[in-house]
Amino acid sequence: MSIRVLSPAVASKIAAGEVVERPASVVRELVDNSLDAGATQISMEIQSGGVRLIRVVDNGVGIPEEEIDLAFERFATSKLSTAEDLEHISTMGFRGEALPSIAAVSEVTMVTRVADDLAGSFIDVKDGKVIQKTKRGCPVGTTVTVRNLFRNVPARLKFLKSDATEVGHISQIVTQYGLSFPEVRFTLIVDGRTIFRTTGSNDLSEVVGIVYGIENIKSFLKVESAQDEPGASVPHISGFASAPSLTRASRSYISFFINRRWVQSRLLTYAIEEAYHGLLIHGRHPIAVVNLFLPSQDLDVNVHPTKNEVKFRNEREVFGVVQRSVREALQSTAPIPTLDTLYKSKPVSTVSTEQFSHFNADTIEHAATEPQLTQPTGIESTTGTLPVLRVVGQLSGTYIITEGPDGMYLVDQHAAHERIQYEKILHQRQRRAVEVQGLLQPTPVELSLQQQELLELHGETLAEYGFGIEHFGERTYLIRSVPAMIRGQSLDKALLDVLDFIGHGSKDCDWGEEIAASLACHSAVLAGQALNQEEMRELIRQLEQTSQPRTCPHGRPTMIHLSSVQLEKGFGRR
Ligand code: ADP
Ligand code: MG
Repeated sequence: MSIRVLSPAVASKIAAGEVVERPASVVRELVDNSLDAGATQISMEIQSGGVRLIRVVDNGVGIPEEEIDLAFERFATSKLSTAEDLEHISTMGFRGEALPSIAAVSEVTMVTRVADDLAGSFIDVKDGKVIQKTKRGCPVGTTVTVRNLFRNVPARLKFLKSDATEVGHISQIVTQYGLSFPEVRFTLIVDGRTIFRTTGSNDLSEVVGIVYGIENIKSFLKVESAQDEPGASVPHISGFASAPSLTRASRSYISFFINRRWVQSRLLTYAIEEAYHGLLIHGRHPIAVVNLFLPSQDLDVNVHPTKNEVKFRNEREVFGVVQRSVREALQSTAPIPTLDTLYKSKPVSTVSTEQFSHFNADTIEHAATEPQLTQPTGIESTTGTLPVLRVVGQLSGTYIITEGPDGMYLVDQHAAHERIQYEKILHQRQRRAVEVQGLLQPTPVELSLQQQELLELHGETLAEYGFGIEHFGERTYLIRSVPAMIRGQSLDKALLDVLDFIGHGSKDCDWGEEIAASLACHSAVLAGQALNQEEMRELIRQLEQTSQPRTCPHGRPTMIHLSSVQLEKGFGRR
């Protein structure tokens, strides 16, 4: 094949593909433009997941009539003129690519007016070409309407998920804007229903309440970096982080804004989790809203076409400031446990050798499969049945000490119970005989938009597990029945956790099993809960009857085995 220069139509579609991945990317670009135009009110209207219609109305400065065509040309921008300008970008946009890219894959109209003009102007762009341009009366500001997104890119259209999923992505983005620009009044209307609204009062805590629930607002701590840190390049931080009592089952409730741009950063997420080190139990994550301000020359925002990743000049410094500021906020309210909780948060496999370090490392045998630890000493395989275990007692309210035919088995009561409950509920579901508990008084629960979407997608499976959930209005749902297994728990929390859990399973995992694992975790006895002899015996007896007694549903071990030989070696009897 000979090399040819692509026609502008093809080239612009390829470029558009980078910027406009899905309806949410259009919303993001249009809102960026409105913010760059100094808007204080931005309202967004979505129809059919954004494919049929996306409209963004702002009260920003508008575009002068003579420049309106230019806005749709590639690399036409009012925000940047020289390459040096790229070194210190303070606007949301700068690539001059968004409008032409959107126009290449949809039908766009724009109505706009600047304060100095008497009338506004209207422009209609199709396939990247201006079809019509006229004067039109309108208030100062800009309205962009995008219709039939991807109608000329069937491959993209096919790749889009359900309307609910696309709305979920859009609302996720709009929520983040709300948090990042509390002084702007945002309204998001989806298929005629207002689903998100902020007041523009410039009070971040108010927006945190709207997004994460008014009832939770007391559990947020203010995060602020120490003032006057020496060195001009040190980032300044402000925001909120949840007290350790308020947690979620996934990391997606941690938001970062760098110079007000929402970014996803594994480095910073890690810094936050480090700040909570030892304060949260395994698998729980905080909620945090963190604004970082740093000089634009310390930052490269131009690393990704959709601008949602950034590069720091000094990663370690940024990491340190985030971690310290959040840690300090936590410390100021709750004493940090002095006991080294390191062991708690590490998987047991690495703990076993350290914790019994007065033994030789090779004398410890792990009962579960841990290839790197298993010594070829002919100890039982990891699956299959357990030997008969005699309960000796409870340790730290967390482990059950048992004796088997070959030494000691230390059982993690929570992990073991999780395994039991997991298999129980899976069986019940298979036999369509899940034990359900109806509630005399329905429990109301507020769902986020993402959770609503998950409920829509997985409602049937949840119903198979005994969840009876009814839409009550806006974002409120009523829980009318629950799996009997989670009796006595806080029911709304159980449902929220199950939704979080499925929200973060990989695409092709078995949702039924994911839900079962989450329910099992919820209904299992906790570490730290005292059990009497009878309860411990019953737990061990039930564990023996499971198909995989040596691991919990997440694959972590339920027990550590210390064989008679290991004990003898450890005490120098051999
Ligand atoms: P960029 O934002 O990278 O400059 P865009 O293609 O998004 O590129 O927009 C091109 C130009 O159109 C912007 O630089 C700006 O001057 C103008 N523009 C776009 N949207 C708006 C708006 N809502 N209000 C005022 N001006 C706008
Ligand atoms: Mg832009």
